[in-house]
This record gives sequence, C-alpha cells and structure tokens, in this order.
Amino acid sequence: MWIKNVHLVDPAQGISGIRNVLVQDGVIQAISTDLDTGEQLSDEQALDGTGKYLFPGLIDVHTHLREPGLEEKEDIASGSAAAIRGGFTGIMAMPNTQPVIDQRALVEFVKHQGERAGLARVYPIAAVTKGQRGEELTEMVDLRAGGAVALSDDGRPIMNAEVMRLALEYAKLPDLIVITHSEDANLALDGCMHWGETSLALGLKGIPSSAEAVMVARDMLLAAQTGGKLHVAHVSAWESVEIIRQAKRQGIDVTAEVNPHHLIFSDEDVTLNSTALKVNPPLRSQEDCEALLQGALDGTIDFLATDHAPHTWEEKAQPMPEAPFGILGLETALPAVWQYLVQPGRLSVEKMVEMWSALPARRFHLPGGSLKVGEAADMVLFDPLAKERVSRDNLASKASNTPFLDQELRGLPVMTWVAGGLKQKDRRIL
Ligand SMILES: [Zn+2]
Repeated sequence: MWIKNVHLVDPAQGISGIRNVLVQDGVIQAISTDLDTGEQLSDEQALDGTGKYLFPGLIDVHTHLREPGLEEKEDIASGSAAAIRGGFTGIMAMPNTQPVIDQRALVEFVKHQGERAGLARVYPIAAVTKGQRGEELTEMVDLRAGGAVALSDDGRPIMNAEVMRLALEYAKLPDLIVITHSEDANLALDGCMHWGETSLALGLKGIPSSAEAVMVARDMLLAAQTGGKLHVAHVSAWESVEIIRQAKRQGIDVTAEVNPHHLIFSDEDVTLNSTALKVNPPLRSQEDCEALLQGALDGTIDFLATDHAPHTWEEKAQPMPEAPFGILGLETALPAVWQYLVQPGRLSVEKMVEMWSALPARRFHLPGGSLKVGEAADMVLFDPLAKERVSRDNLASKASNTPFLDQELRGLPVMTWVAGGLKQKDRRIL
C-alpha cells in the first residue's frame, strides 16, 4: 500500500514534508518524494494522504489501565482501544492495580492481556516496592525477565529516601529506569488542588508546589549519588523544571514528562465542583504552565505523556475533596495538544511528535518511534480538519472523566496502524 502525498513528520529521520510512503508486510518499504514508479496504482493499493499528516505511532509512557482488580474503571482491552483511537500504538501501563504488579507472573499477565486485546502494544511497568508500600524492593531482575520495561510506584511517593537510593542502585543491574511520582506526602497532605490564591478563594485545601519540588530535588541527588536512571512523571511546577534543568547540565541520567492538561489548564480553571480537573499533581498557576512549555521547548522536559487515569462516574460525582485524582487522556490528548498548542504556534508539530514518539522509544528501548525503511509500520494518519464532539457514546474508554466532555475537538487521528495492520479508521476500532 502506498500512502500518497502525505505530510510525513518523522523527527528521528529529520523528515517533515510531503512524501509517499510504501508499506508492505507490516513494515515500511520505501519513502519517496515523487511517485515516479511508472505504476498505475489502483484505489486498493493507494491511500490519498493529501492535507493529512503521517506520524510514527505515538508512545505513551504513562497510562493507567486498571486491570487487574479495578475493571469497573477500565481494563486492558478498553484502554488499548482508547489508545488506538487516540493515535497511540504503544502504551506503558502503570502497576498501581489490585493486586499491584510486583511479581513476574503479574507482569506476564498484563503483557498477555495486551496481546489478547490485539490493539496497541502494551508494555508493563512493574512496582519499585512490594505492594507499592515504599518499604521492600521488588525482584527487579525477575520483573525485567517477565517483560517489565520500567519500574514505578506511581500513584504513591517513595517517602523513605534510603529505599529510593537502593531502588536506583539495584535497578542498574537489570538496566531499568525508575519512574518517580515525586510528591512529599506530608506537604501534600489532604489537598485537592494547587495551593494558591484560587484554593484560598474557593476554601479548598491546597497542595503546594514544594510538595513536588522537594522530592524532585531529593531524587536528583540520589540519582547523582548512585548513577541510576531516573524518569520524573508528570512535572507540574516551575521549581521542578528548574531543578531538572540543572540536573541535566550536571550530567545526571534523568528524563521528565509533562501531561497535556498541565500545559493547557491552570488552577484558575478549577471550580468548587470541577472534579474533571482534579489531578495529581494539581493544575498549577499560569506561570507554571509557561515554565513547563519552556522546559519542553528547550529539552528539559523530554516527553509528552497522558497520565490516562480512568475513574467511574460515581467516584467523580463526589465533592472535590473526596473525588479521586485523575482524568482520561488517551483519546483526547493528541487533538487537545494540536488545538491548544500546535495550532496557535506555541509547539511545532515536529517537536510534538519527537516528544510523543521518537524520544520515548529511544529512552525505554521500545519498538517504533520512527518510520525508517525496514521499521514496523506503527503509524497514525492525522487529519487537522476532522472534528469530533467528545461524548460518553464515542469514547472507547469505560470511563468519561475528561474535562473535554461535550466539547468539540478539531484535529484528529483518523487511522492508526500497528505493524501495518489497520486498527482504527474514522475514530472507529476495527
Ligand atoms: Zn503519579
């Protein structure tokens, strides 16, 4: 199949321009600038990409799929479908399920469920500590052998600094990156939004930026001391961006991610009952949004990541202090980043694809991230003019806790392939 006359964006190859792409037997066979093959292509052999973009499939390093144990929120099949609808061909699944993914058999279970769903590639992340209790380290070598691609206690901080130091030290043996949920539980206490003028005005308990930044600083020092590999999940505060910037200058082996919602929304959007904007870390100030974007542009922040966190309607219908943290991401993240950041010229399409595909693949040694000749055809066709009103009916996720519910998003992934197999067309799972 030729995809003709499409705007190919492939930062790993330094390509951004009109190309024809030949896909055969699940892999990229050729990329050409003009279709001088002399062949007359029938409609079945050619797809007209005029006016559309072709990206390597997006890879999400931060997804909560909720299986096993929390299937009322999401399961691996529904989460994989949401991924494919959103243009993601690979997703890294966080281990804060019930039970926690802290044993090899559980890592293998997540992997198998992903393969059974047969949609996106599902990569299990295993816990750093048993039961994510922050006390005793897991059997990292065994978890790696079972297919874990990283380690994280995400959802919970590792409060004991000595446990974190040992984790970074021991994770060097299986060559796994430790992903931190950087939050000081005592500073965060029982806050439900960013601590600042808005939280004071609303009378809601706040989570100060320091709750994140002190842990980011601690973990940089521990990474420097051990030489371990660190990745900072969902950076939200300007102080953290500054600490990571300094750490990178010192040669510490650290990467960081930002979630689209932390770039798009601020605490000023939060109201007394906007639980669809209740996330952890919380939406911070406009200043923080700006610092995060600057961090992304100068390479301090490496990846975009969704932190897709499904919850039931009943859970999110509770008042702000009681409702759980987290919002959906997979199906809305790409259109939202397109609409709010790329379209207004604040983030280039090339940078977006680099942060969401090329760099995650390289850092976590995953397939994909580029459409080089010979690579598996994990790819997404993006139509900047396609529109959709986000609704409970069209979301593939079991949940609907998204701030974009009932809003129209413009710019959609309209076809998604994994290894050359078409999995989604016109936002319908095949
Ligand atoms: Zn987290």
